[in-house]
Amino acid sequence: MKTYDYLIVGSGLYGATFAHFAKKAGKRCLVIDKRPHLGGNLYCEEIEGIQVHKYGAHIFHTSNKEVWDFVNTIVPFNRYTNSPIANYHGELYNLPFNMNTFCRMWQDVHTPLEAEARIAEQRKEALAALDGREPANLEEQALCLVGRDIYQRLIKEYTEKQWGRACSELPAFIIRRLPVRFVFDNNYFNDLYQGIPIGGYNRLIDGLLEGVECKTGVDFFTDYQSDWRSLANTLVYTGALDAYFDYRFGKLDWRTITFRTRVEDTPNYQGNAVVNYTSHDVPYTRVIEHKHFEQFGQEVYDCPKTVISEEYSAEYHPGMEPYYPINDAKNNVLAEQYRQLALQEKDIIFGGRLAEYKYYDMAPIVEKVMALFAKM
Ligand code: UDP
Repeated sequence: MKTYDYLIVGSGLYGATFAHFAKKAGKRCLVIDKRPHLGGNLYCEEIEGIQVHKYGAHIFHTSNKEVWDFVNTIVPFNRYTNSPIANYHGELYNLPFNMNTFCRMWQDVHTPLEAEARIAEQRKEALAALDGREPANLEEQALCLVGRDIYQRLIKEYTEKQWGRACSELPAFIIRRLPVRFVFDNNYFNDLYQGIPIGGYNRLIDGLLEGVECKTGVDFFTDYQSDWRSLANTLVYTGALDAYFDYRFGKLDWRTITFRTRVEDTPNYQGNAVVNYTSHDVPYTRVIEHKHFEQFGQEVYDCPKTVISEEYSAEYHPGMEPYYPINDAKNNVLAEQYRQLALQEKDIIFGGRLAEYKYYDMAPIVEKVMALFAKM
């Protein structure tokens, strides 16, 4: 008999949720992670009593009540509502695109009818250029969605900084993530539920992994790959898809992010958790002020310092952390070749953003694992 039912490679949200449900089903699991801590990119570090999202801001949001109820059984979530600000050459706009944005963008717009008319006028130009075609890339999609003024000030340069590619080379779906609303509502998400685990994401990960055997600082490829089949019945692999197959068809491209984090000697640096810098002349894409994810009202001032992170987007090179899959034509073809190989593997589950090469939010990951176990 093998020691484990599952060897789970990677302790991010997919691996930790999988381990949780497997354990609940009476399965024996070993979770391994090459980093010195659990949680993957959800990991938080406490600085000045503030939970700092070390690998980028994470806001949990979903309309799936079952998913929301489940994560709240692991750790209660707070009432944080994401409402980022965009800074374009010092002008501040509300996101997502809503009446607050439109009234600031066009001084003569005050009502939804006026905003709709202004956007319709600009959309007409974009649709005419398409001549009956569907938008084929992010630029065409954005121009059809909100017109040229918003595209130029709030989308074009930000997107090019984030992805390192022209908007005309990026897939349209990326921009369809953002709502466009003709009401004064700065909530970035359309979902019914959103928040941050009270006490930080490590509580979510620790809760999911409670009672599960975990080893950090171990590398699957050098420490486990050659003999995992003698150790476990099934491998759950959440690392990069191309790496598993030793880059046989070539390397997939990713975007990575680096952070410059510092403590500021003021209780309230920017008045919001997320400020996006949407022009090219600022080298970072956004500035995160972590305390606003968990401190509200007077609590902000009870803590005299604050921690901020500037976020820089860059092309991934080996040795860095892969963050965003790049779903352009070239990488989609390559990823599909690897997915076909993955399908042929027996007793291996490939799951999560890296192993599926898919731009996932957190909730769909939990949902996917829950569905998998419901089926089992
Ligand atoms: N985006 C933009 N301007 C902004 C914020 C977002 O143009 O101020 C676009 C950009 O192309 C980005 C996409 O919207 O890649 C999705 O943004 P989101 O904030 O949802 O991305 P994530 O939080 O996953 O980085």
